Formats: sequence, C-alpha cells, structure tokens
Amino acid sequence: MSKHAIPLPNGRKINWPTAVVLFFLHIGAIAALFMFSWKAFLVAVALHWVAVGWGISLGYHRLHTHQSYQCPQWLQYFFAVCGTLTLEGGPMFWVGTHRVHHAHSDEAGDPHSPRLSGAFWSHMGWILFGETHHNDTALMAKFAPDLAKHKFYWWLNTYHWVPVTVTGLALLAFGGLPMFLWAFCFRIVYGLHVTWLINSATHIFGRRRFETSDDSRNSFILAVLTFGEGWHNNHHAHQTSARHGLAWYELDISWLTLKLMKATGLAWGIRTAKLESQVLERKAA
Ligand SMILES: [Zn+2]
Ligand SMILES: [Zn+2]
Repeated sequence: MSKHAIPLPNGRKINWPTAVVLFFLHIGAIAALFMFSWKAFLVAVALHWVAVGWGISLGYHRLHTHQSYQCPQWLQYFFAVCGTLTLEGGPMFWVGTHRVHHAHSDEAGDPHSPRLSGAFWSHMGWILFGETHHNDTALMAKFAPDLAKHKFYWWLNTYHWVPVTVTGLALLAFGGLPMFLWAFCFRIVYGLHVTWLINSATHIFGRRRFETSDDSRNSFILAVLTFGEGWHNNHHAHQTSARHGLAWYELDISWLTLKLMKATGLAWGIRTAKLESQVLERKAA
C-alpha cells in the first residue's frame, strides 16, 4: 500500500474549493447564534446524530473501515449516505484515509499526526492544504478494495457532495433561513470539529489505558460529543472491537445503539474486546 496517495504535511498549497466552502459554513454557523429557534436547534441535533452518530461512528468507522459487526446491505448503504451528510467526504476516501492512519499511527505516513506535524495540521491543516483526493475514487479504491467492489460506493464517493447539498436546499426551502443556518451550517461545522478533535485532541490529551505504540488517548468529553469515538486509546488497542467504551462508566452511545440493533435483528457478528485484556494498563501518561 503506497502511503503517498494520502495528503501529507509536505503539501503547503491551500486547497481553495475546500477552504472557501469551510469559510462560508463557519460564517453561517456564527450567524446561527443570532437566529436561535428551538425547532431549528432540535432538527440540528437529530441530524447530527444521523450524520455523525450513524454515518461516521457506526458507519464509516466501526462498520466500513473496521468491519466490527455485520448488518443488512441496505443498512450499510444507508449509513454511508448518512456519512456523506457530514461533508467529511465519501466512504472510500474516509475509509482509505483512516486505514492509513491505523497502519502508520503517529509515524511517517500518518495523514494527521500531531506528533509528526503539530496540532493544527492534525486537526484541519491536512484538509485545508494539499490535494485531499476526495473525488479520486480510482485512487481511493486501492485503499478500500472491499468497498470498491460495490458500484454504489463508487458513485457515492465521487458524488459525495450530492446528498448533503440536496439536504441543505431542502432545509432552506422548507424550514427557512434559521433552519438552514442551524441544521446545515452549524450542524456541519460542529460535526467536523468534534470529528477532527479525535484526530488531534485524542492524540494529545487524556488518559492512556493501553500502551499502544501511538499517542492515542481516552477522553470522556469527546466520547460524549462523538457518540463514543472519544475512547480512542481503547480503539487503537482493539481496532476491530465494535465497543469502544470498554468499562461500564465509559459512555459509548454507538455501542448502546448497536446493542439495540442486535436486539431487533439489524446487527450480528459483533466483535468486542474485553476489559480484562488490559494487561498493559498503566496510569495516565
Ligand atoms: Zn488515532
Ligand atoms: Zn479506527
């Protein structure tokens, strides 16, 4: 697997289309604060759970990248569509980038390592600078060959911006400006930053339960904000475990959702790590 197809910190050329879109989304997110409405806020919360909770955490991450459980094909496709609503790119791009992160965590080749390239790069610099290959589906197929077998994922990866654009126009048309600012601009900006904090903050701040070779850490606050993704040190130690919060007090909303999916027959073959496997436990670094 070539590790040079993923953006690395040597690219200092700003990615203008991405930068302009992110700039206007941030303006919209700030404007939302001056147009508060409970209805718009609650729609934003619901869409955040669908996009980040289902799309990123249960979909792109635990299902598509790590195959930590199985579910019906239609649900796999549905979760992938939910993932595109975050504006974090299509499934093959996301999965490919994340697999390279695990293959080279905090070593040469990691697309977003604070140890190698600093906190800003690991948070959003890697998105803003250089070529991010969002739409280069043929290239991303090398990193996600399992997804590349599905025509649907090829289409969705190339046109990942279509579902989110349609959603934005529908929110504006049927809900008006406050609904658009909250459920589109604010919701996307918030979702991007909490996801990016997993790449930046949980490789810098927090407690390490497992002595992994990378700098990954566990963060309760980020676990609450990301439906359980904040137990990032647990995850690096047990990458194929569908359960990231391993102790009863480690809130993992995606794990609770998965238990509900299992009870209703929507998920099976669920892989989990046991807390007793923590032979290398140590105090916070
Ligand atoms: Zn990591
Ligand atoms: Zn992972």
